[in-house]
Amino acid sequence: MKIQGSCFCGAVTIEGEADPAMVSVCHCADCQSGSGTAFRVSVPVSGATFKLTGTPAVYVKTTADSGNPRAQAFCPTCGSPLYSTAPGEGQQAMYIVRVGILKQRDELTPKRQIWWRSARNWVTGLDSVQKIEKQT
Ligand SMILES: [Zn+2]
Ligand SMILES: [Zn+2]
Repeated sequence: MKIQGSCFCGAVTIEGEADPAMVSVCHCADCQSGSGTAFRVSVPVSGATFKLTGTPAVYVKTTADSGNPRAQAFCPTCGSPLYSTAPGEGQQAMYIVRVGILKQRDELTPKRQIWWRSARNWVTGLDSVQKIEKQT
């Protein structure tokens, strides 16, 4: 399916083709500290279809949890995490795009969870945590 998205402030936009069957939640320690929350939800987008406007800032972590260097792209103005990819110049083969920035996020529900061994121990219990429709 076609996906489109942008960061919080709109300075960076993303377009491409993604397979909704490939949406995953990642509970690795890098995703927790890189997102500032408990996990990331992402979908792969092939470099052949990936289009970008604006200029993301990129941080390359030399040893990610996976053991490989990863380039983490985010908006230099508003800080929204955008995607990760292989480090290097030019178009890459694959981009792992953060689902929260996409217009189609309602249709992109997780199909698997990876790095479960470092998942926060409360993530399976959220349904029992008090729910408030807006703020208190
Ligand atoms: Zn932004
Ligand atoms: Zn991760």
